Amino acid sequence: MVLVPPSGTAKNGRMVSLNDVYRARRRLSDHLEPTPLPSYPALDAIAGTEVFVKHENLQPIGAFKVRGGINLLATMDSADRNAGIVGYSTGNHAQSLAYAARRFGVECVIVVPADPNPVKAAAVRALGAHLVEYGPHLETAAEHAAGLARSRGMRLVSAADEPALIAGVATAYLEVFTELPDVDVVLVPVGSGTGAAGACVVAEALNPDCRVVGVQSDASPAAHDSWRAGELVTRPNLTVCDGLATGAGFGLPQRMLRGRLADFRLVSDAEIAHAQWLLLSRARTVAEGAGAAATAALSVMKSQLAGQRVVVMCTGGNAAEAELRRCVDQER
Ligand SMILES: *Cc1c(COP(=O)(O)O)cnc(C)c1O
Repeated sequence: MVLVPPSGTAKNGRMVSLNDVYRARRRLSDHLEPTPLPSYPALDAIAGTEVFVKHENLQPIGAFKVRGGINLLATMDSADRNAGIVGYSTGNHAQSLAYAARRFGVECVIVVPADPNPVKAAAVRALGAHLVEYGPHLETAAEHAAGLARSRGMRLVSAADEPALIAGVATAYLEVFTELPDVDVVLVPVGSGTGAAGACVVAEALNPDCRVVGVQSDASPAAHDSWRAGELVTRPNLTVCDGLATGAGFGLPQRMLRGRLADFRLVSDAEIAHAQWLLLSRARTVAEGAGAAATAALSVMKSQLAGQRVVVMCTGGNAAEAELRRCVDQER
């Protein structure tokens, strides 16, 4: 097991500052519009408090990760851009890199675990990236991607240990705190932790009273358990929500979450599927499992959230057909 060094002593990547996030916002302003943050009375009634949904599922690739991909490509030098990039992902990170690579005219190879979410795989191919299916899970895909990057001289992009990705995704929270300066709680789904790390940086600077709470599937609790343990741990990775499917903690986001995240909660895949259905039926919006995890935490945390203004991050909408069928069937 690897010890997570204390904040400020980053070893394999520097921490991200609020200034990095402001610079990212300037870069992204040429490419993306702010996403909406509405409330839905029918959802408030169920949560028993005032809930606002940050609609990152309405981004061009259907997920918040597009912010990170564009910021990363925008900050790469021309030698790196000419060499191309290699990424590994269960889907949305891949789409983000492929989308940004196409915008910047950069060659892009993506390694995904075998049998990927077909919606995401088709989208990556449609964006012109080379998709390589390899191995049973993200960790084997990552090793294969590292080998490809070495042999082809391309820039390997980590799924999480990349300051430019974190600064990019953190811009979502500039939008949240600008539009709702008095929000009390922000619920953020966690896979690797880049989104939650970005939320913490922005909240600490702009609204230190706001509690940022991470939410992960109890079937893939590596980030949660790493945060609780204060060291990077490996855990079973069995969630059906591909955006949350990581089997090990990532160093950079974990260092940034340490001492900053107010709480970290686990929810079951069945609770997540119910939240997907709630978003479909009460907010008329399509969330993939990972995109509904924060909404699932509303019922788990109901007593603590009463009387609070709560933002749930609806991080993505790339639900495969089978996933939508499952969430509707479960309600019968
Ligand atoms: C990647 C992803 C997450 C998890 O984000 P991390 O930054 O890896 O913690 C949550 N929701 C969706 C839709 C995602 O694609």
